[in-house]
Amino acid sequence: MILFDRVTKTYPRTTRAALEDISLDIGRGEFVFLVGKSGSGKSTFLRLVLREERASSGRILVAGRDLSKMPERHLPALRREIGVVFQDFRLLPNKTVAQNVAFALQVIGRSRAHIRQTVPETLDLVGLTGKDKRFPHQLSAGEQQRVAIARAVVNKPAILLADEPTGNLDPATSLDIVMLLDRIHRANTTVVMATHDHDVVNALRKRVVELKDGSIVRDQVQAGYRVNPTADPGPEGNDGGVPS
Ligand code: ADP
Repeated sequence: MILFDRVTKTYPRTTRAALEDISLDIGRGEFVFLVGKSGSGKSTFLRLVLREERASSGRILVAGRDLSKMPERHLPALRREIGVVFQDFRLLPNKTVAQNVAFALQVIGRSRAHIRQTVPETLDLVGLTGKDKRFPHQLSAGEQQRVAIARAVVNKPAILLADEPTGNLDPATSLDIVMLLDRIHRANTTVVMATHDHDVVNALRKRVVELKDGSIVRDQVQAGYRVNPTADPGPEGNDGGVPS
């Protein structure tokens, strides 16, 4: 679903690559945590998948499309395959919950009948039944993120990208949100979540790809995320993963 083949990204007027020689294959329906310190290249990875940035070298395939060859006019079709969720929710403050979600369908020209049916279904999916007429400021942070997730998935994209989606949430709410992303993943969506939240990564035991200074330093299935990789993980171990 997402294939990076020896991808390097160097931003203009910088000397060091933000991503260097990255090869990674994320299959259809996988759930991947992309972890690493601030500045390690996580957002750059997500921006390349969306073709908000272009690779300096290497090949990127997303949902069967070769991004290096794709003309600009195909970008809207690519982006319809990809839902995106951010740390800061990015809701429209003057629209209700239902209007925020409906807006994502209006801009791609869906019919009113389709919108009337799909928006309540999606609000049910994210656990916001009964909150459709509220405005963002009348919701908790966790609820606002649920609205953002509803908006991201209402068009049933093949891929959901989440950039630090729990960054503004308390630990319990963070776990709820990641469980919701997992539910969406189980409904056959490929999910890539960039995070440095150890607790949520350790709670879910999914594939973990770790970046450091633009390079992949770890790619493990069903892994945890050690706070201190040099510490003794103890008799139980703590990353329980199978190197791949
Ligand atoms: P992360 O999401 O893990 O914090 P980023 O992908 O944002 O990492 O950043 C990776 C590296 O690229 C950092 O060194 C950052 O300073 C640099 N970088 C990110 N965006 C830009 C940009 N638009 N122009 C120049 N350098 C950038």
